[in-house]
Amino acid sequence: METTPAFEGLRCVDCEETFDAAEATHRCPDCGGILDPTYDYDSLDVTRETFESRRFDSMWRYEELLPFSRDAAVSMGEGATALVECPTLADEMGVGEVYVKDEGRNPTGTFKDRGQTVAVTAAAQHGASDVALASAGNAGQSAAAYAGRAGIDSHVFLPSRSGFANKAMVNVHGGDMTIVEGRIGDAGAAFDDAMDEHDDWYSVKTFETPYRHEGKKTMYYETAEQLDWETPDHVVYPTGGGVGLVGMHKAAKELRDLGLTDDLPAMYAAQAEGCAPIVRAFQEGRDVHEPWDTPDTICGGIEIPDPGASPLVLEALRESDGGAVATSDEAILDAATQVAAHEGLEMGATCAAAASGASALAEDGAFGEDDTVVILNTGTANKDADVLRSHLMSKGI
Ligand SMILES: *Cc1c(COP(=O)(O)O)cnc(C)c1O
Ligand SMILES: [Zn+2]
Repeated sequence: METTPAFEGLRCVDCEETFDAAEATHRCPDCGGILDPTYDYDSLDVTRETFESRRFDSMWRYEELLPFSRDAAVSMGEGATALVECPTLADEMGVGEVYVKDEGRNPTGTFKDRGQTVAVTAAAQHGASDVALASAGNAGQSAAAYAGRAGIDSHVFLPSRSGFANKAMVNVHGGDMTIVEGRIGDAGAAFDDAMDEHDDWYSVKTFETPYRHEGKKTMYYETAEQLDWETPDHVVYPTGGGVGLVGMHKAAKELRDLGLTDDLPAMYAAQAEGCAPIVRAFQEGRDVHEPWDTPDTICGGIEIPDPGASPLVLEALRESDGGAVATSDEAILDAATQVAAHEGLEMGATCAAAASGASALAEDGAFGEDDTVVILNTGTANKDADVLRSHLMSKGI
């Protein structure tokens, strides 16, 4: 495998056993726990200048902190997204500065590309002929795109309620698509059955592959560098499985421990009231969520009733002194249209949970008047244009 010099291997977050990445490919061979890439940080000789001297052209410019070399990566220049200052939002929230990290500018329109570029690179390194996953939509589209680029077949299981753009583009990328009546859990069950039947399929599903949260770390590396290595006070993230939140928290600890930044930002999970298992667990002081009985939100990307990595998410929220917030679909869609109208930024419906959640946190007094708040816009509004326009129609506009 073409791994980077400091990459050591994979450590199980449950039993803490470590494994060689050439042999362990998915969950812990001993206990089934989630595997997390580890590095020999002491061997790394990276400074702020190391990264600043490189063109801002792809997330792979942080290759020292990723498992695979840039040369080996199945890449389309993903990442390197803009961090957009939003003065109107800052005024409304009564804080010093608000920035939106605009992940809609990725190859398939969402930050899922950061996870899939690393996961599909791993699949290629392991010699996989086929990759497979169940997804709410965006991850499936992204996997089909990267698999196509790598010359690997893809098998994507989507629930019937996932968006038209996702379904269409899986086909356009040449992926094999199975639409499963129902929601993400139903697609997951069909995927599990198919995996049992196909020994040669390589899973690129969240937290089954160790590499999706690893790729999403780069959202925080970029944010820190774009803020001249000044740690933002608060980061608000639209949370489903929490992959990106776990990744960014890991990245913040890495940069701090490497001496590139001074602090950790407070991380906040923003969810929709119709499916908020992380928020409920956080508020009840639990270490693990309880599955949400009747998920119901327009925000498909975060409609995850049973997020398997909730202990990691909850730990990140507490360790960073952050929090969790849920708002209604109505407030979320209002936030998407308001941000588009007043800041110009096109926020996906799911993503606007972070903007809406940040406003609710501001109202609750979570932020100080000089604070810097970063909101993750995880995907483009183009995929949700119908949902956002219909929201206006529901108001007679
Ligand atoms: C997948 C997705 C999310 C949720 O991501 P997690 O890291 O799994 O919590 C948020 N927004 C969009 C647009 C997504 O596609
Ligand atoms: Zn284990």
